Amino acid sequence: MPTYVFRCEDCQTVFERFISFADMANQPTILCPQCASQRLQRVWTAPLVLTARERSTAGSNGGSGCACGTCN
Ligand SMILES: [Zn+2]
Repeated sequence: MPTYVFRCEDCQTVFERFISFADMANQPTILCPQCASQRLQRVWTAPLVLTARERSTAGSNGGSGCACGTCN
């Protein structure tokens, strides 16, 4: 079940909500647990694992990369 992170635009409270796809289709009314405001903004949490793994494979064997200047 996906977890959505919201931030209240009124009191800046950040909170998580579990919302199933079925519930999302019904457009549920989500209220700030702090001030009961409906002015909420979705916060996208990015996974941090991807960038480190891409960097380790990018350096070596990157195609025709001879640096001697005589061969291409
Ligand atoms: Zn609030």
